[in-house]
Amino acid sequence: MNSRRGFLRDLAAQAGSAAREAAARSDLATAAAQVGSAAREATSEPSAPEALALSDAELERYGRQLALPEWGLAQQAAVREARVLVVGAGALGAPGALYLAGAGVGRLGILDDDAVELSNLHRQLLHFTPDVGVPKAESAAAKLRFLNPDIVIEPYRVRLVADNAAALVEGQDLVVDCSDSFATRYAVNAACCAARVPLVEGGVTGFAGLVMAVRPGETACYRCAFPAAPAAAPSCAEAGVLGPAAGVVGSLQALEALRLLGGLEDGLLGGFLQIDLLEPAFTRVRAMRRADCPDCGAL
Ligand SMILES: [Zn+2]
Repeated sequence: MNSRRGFLRDLAAQAGSAAREAAARSDLATAAAQVGSAAREATSEPSAPEALALSDAELERYGRQLALPEWGLAQQAAVREARVLVVGAGALGAPGALYLAGAGVGRLGILDDDAVELSNLHRQLLHFTPDVGVPKAESAAAKLRFLNPDIVIEPYRVRLVADNAAALVEGQDLVVDCSDSFATRYAVNAACCAARVPLVEGGVTGFAGLVMAVRPGETACYRCAFPAAPAAAPSCAEAGVLGPAAGVVGSLQALEALRLLGGLEDGLLGGFLQIDLLEPAFTRVRAMRRADCPDCGAL
């Protein structure tokens, strides 16, 4: 397995190197062809799994991420096969879903039961002025399909609550929680822990944000880190928020999601990133699993 992984890394590095050299000559077609050539060589190997075969269009669309030494054909194939649920198509879900769709997540669920309001538009950039009144799940799905018609977008016009969380999380490879309430976050966390589905949590208020990655049963879950909701948690309507602050947090959630799907380094597993964008300052905080955690203590 390790030698196989090493082979894929070498292959990805070769393809990435070829792409960078060609791109430096502004010869994008050559870059795509060379990456494609490397991919075809890989798939012609008897031991190469079928999932690694990417079309020429995919190799061109994803060429700049495939050029990364950390992101090769194996990672691209993994995200293409992945089923990811984004909970909330608002301030965090908009950038989060855009980056996940752009990166090629094969099946992307967008869950939101709200309709677009004028006051959303300064930070929820998946929705445009003519979308006011349109269900956010549908508005988001329409834009994401334009962005990447090669993936499946599944809009869900429902609110995730404790009663339906298990059914919504079942069968997902990853959940990205972009909701805006502690009740929803705890419901998502409990369902993900029960189903052992990896989770990326996030939140933003004012200039402050937080991102946390969870691998249930292995690393601290959201409730391990935050056993109870704060007594007074102001909403964005009360505390205000600048659009780019939400953009930073949602983008970091997408990055953590891709990291987990692609099997990169551990990132924000086992803790969270505390973000103060007024300062600005980013602080990593470790979080330990709690044996008495009602969500993951028994796993
Ligand atoms: Zn826990």
